[in-house]
Amino acid sequence: MTDRTWVLAPNDLGLWDQCRRCFYLAAAAEFPRPSSPNRTAGLIGRRLLSGLQGARADKIADGMPSGLVDVGRHALRSAPLTVQVPDRAYRCVIRGDLDVVLRLEGEACGLAEVVVGVPEPAALPAHSRRLHAWAQAVETPDAGPGRAVHALGVLGFQAENDGPAGVTGAWRWTPIARDDAAFYGFLAEALSVLARPSPPGGAPLCPWCVYRDASRRTGY
Ligand code: SF4
Repeated sequence: MTDRTWVLAPNDLGLWDQCRRCFYLAAAAEFPRPSSPNRTAGLIGRRLLSGLQGARADKIADGMPSGLVDVGRHALRSAPLTVQVPDRAYRCVIRGDLDVVLRLEGEACGLAEVVVGVPEPAALPAHSRRLHAWAQAVETPDAGPGRAVHALGVLGFQAENDGPAGVTGAWRWTPIARDDAAFYGFLAEALSVLARPSPPGGAPLCPWCVYRDASRRTGY
């Protein structure tokens, strides 16, 4: 067992597919890539989310489970997770704020990521990774009782009209199959990278790193 307990933010897990160096710097060195906020997309996203608050999930889109949509800042932290690799064990916790929880029958819940548009198949692994991470934090929290997670999915808004009354469209639910073994396999690979003493190489010709290298070379 290594001494360090890594703190993973589900929102950083999408970096894994984009650039392992950026993932390492964000998760292990607390040196995240600067974000470039898109205010319009942020505003649309917030409006869409607020319109979902309290709605019956099964009335929003075909295939959604029965329950109520709870939109808010759900601050989550998991108990330490032990991730076994062949010659050692790593420990990590999942920590972050989740936007959308589906309150299902009894104490069970579902977890959803809300996006504009329907997610491309290539984007689903990153959604799945984040949703599995949230599921760990909900089912095995650091404090208090856990709740069973019975559904994971991506809720995408497909705009159809942009008229004077605003944007109208339809919601589509893309369910994500639960596969904890695959998620733990990902954690084993990711934590093995984070445990290295230095970050892996970056993505070739990434404009951020090209700019940073040019700055170092020129001294500007
Ligand atoms: S190459 Fe780009 S994505 Fe990778 S570490 Fe540099 S800034 Fe981040």
